[in-house]
Amino acid sequence: MNLILLEPEDFLPDGRAALSGRRMKHVLEVQQAEPGQTLRLGQVNGLMGEGLLLVREPDRLLFEVSLNMPPPPRLPVTLLLALPRPKMLKRILQTVATLGVQRLVLLNSYRVEKSFWDSPFLRSEAIREELVLGLEQGRDTVLPEVWLEKRFKPFVEDRLPGISAGSRCLVAHPGGESACPVAVNAPLTLAIGPEGGFIPYEVDSLVCQGFEPVHLGPRILRVETAVTALLSRLFV
Ligand code: SAH
Repeated sequence: MNLILLEPEDFLPDGRAALSGRRMKHVLEVQQAEPGQTLRLGQVNGLMGEGLLLVREPDRLLFEVSLNMPPPPRLPVTLLLALPRPKMLKRILQTVATLGVQRLVLLNSYRVEKSFWDSPFLRSEAIREELVLGLEQGRDTVLPEVWLEKRFKPFVEDRLPGISAGSRCLVAHPGGESACPVAVNAPLTLAIGPEGGFIPYEVDSLVCQGFEPVHLGPRILRVETAVTALLSRLFV
C-alpha cells in the first residue's frame, strides 16, 4: 500500500479522517507509523496528499488530512478483456487499476467458461475492492470504469463502434499479422483474449470493426502477463 485511500465515510464532521480495519492494520504493522508521523493519503476519485497521524485509539487511527495533489494521468485505454477465471480476474483488476487503465470491458467470448459469469468476484463491491488495492499499490485515486458485457456479438457490432471511435484499435493475437507497435501513447482500444485465445470468428469480427491483429512474439503469455506487457509497450 503506497497510498492509503480514503472513502467519503472515513471523514469525520470536523474534517479529520478515521481509519480502522485493514488500513489501520497496515499503517501499524507494515508502515509502523506512530502519532506525529505523516503518511500519503488520497481520496477515492479525488485528490492525493498527506495525513498527519494524530491519535492511535484501540480501534481506529485519527488523521489530519491535507489533500492538494491531482492523481497521475490515466492511460487513455479501453481494455476489452475476455472474462478471465475468477482467481486471475482478481489479480488483473488490481493490475489494471495500478497501471491507470481508464476503462475495462469484461467481455464474453467462445472460450470463456459460462460458469465464470456467476462468480461472486463479479459483484460490483468485489470488483471495487480489488480496484482499490490496485490504486493503493500504484499511488492513484481514480477507479477505472468496469463494464460487464455478456454477449460478444451485440457488444462488438452495436456498442463497440461508439466506444472505439477516435482511438486506434488493436487485438492481441498470437500469430497476428504484425508485431505490436511500441510507444503509441495515444487513445487505444485493446482487445485481449481468454486463456484459450479468441476463435477466428471473434478475431474477424474485431477486424471488421477496424482492429489490427498484433503479436508479441512467439511466446504465449498468460493473460495477466499479456496485459502488463502490452500496456508497458504501448505507453512509454
Ligand atoms: N492458446 C491461445 C493463447 C491464448 S493466450 C492461442 O494459441 O491463441 C491469452 C491471450 O493473451 C491471447 O488471446 C492474446 O490476447 C494474449 N497473448 C498472449 N500471448 C500473446 C502473444 N505472444 N502475442 C499476442 N497476444 C498474446
